[in-house]
Amino acid sequence: MNYELDIHTHTIASGHAYNTLQEMIYTAKEKGLRLLGVSDHAVAMPGTCHLYYFHNLKVVERQYGDLELMLGAEVNIIGYNGELDLDEETLAGLDYGIASLHMPCLAPGTKEQNINAMIKAMESPYIQVIGHPDDSRFSLDYEALVQAAKKNHVLIEINNSSLNPNGFRQNTRENDITILNLCKQYAVPVCLNSDAHVASDIGNTCFIDAVLNETNFPEDLIINTSVDKFKQFLSEK
Ligand SMILES: [Zn+2]
Ligand SMILES: [Zn+2]
Repeated sequence: MNYELDIHTHTIASGHAYNTLQEMIYTAKEKGLRLLGVSDHAVAMPGTCHLYYFHNLKVVERQYGDLELMLGAEVNIIGYNGELDLDEETLAGLDYGIASLHMPCLAPGTKEQNINAMIKAMESPYIQVIGHPDDSRFSLDYEALVQAAKKNHVLIEINNSSLNPNGFRQNTRENDITILNLCKQYAVPVCLNSDAHVASDIGNTCFIDAVLNETNFPEDLIINTSVDKFKQFLSEK
């Protein structure tokens, strides 16, 4: 299946990714994507860009021929009450926000603490996607996660990098299958993302395809099938 968009990607601004914005745009066009979302790590991630990077995104062109560019952030959840590492004003200036749990930014808590952190983050009006909730190092109640995503109109991400057998997140395949089955049951849409830290990985869903097949996941719950569908979803929050 060819998808139209990938909205979780990183440029050199993230500090541990390897291509410039222009290189990412060029590659996304080469691959035939219609929308590229760049979501550099927000400020609590060691080595990432300064806050001002996110304040100045308005200077960047958003249309490159057939390719649209959206500039968001992968926002860090930095407290068990869903505290985020960007202030409201900064968040309001982004095209979208992905909220994720990362070890350097928040130590894994109990299952209750972790899910509370994620649910509270989803309640922010500026968070439209919950990033890689598939890592057993941050154990989660998946039933609660999927129901909260539905209630708060947030997309659950299925992250291709997480599913890479050489990746560092734990039990991701098993957890993604659980998540996908629950999303199917409750009709909650998902967003398939590469989490590319290098341009050649943009749009890569090679590991996701297998779990979608295995769960017989319905195409109408995959937001990546259409840019219009994705934008409609964003506009509804
Ligand atoms: Zn990263
Ligand atoms: Zn992440």
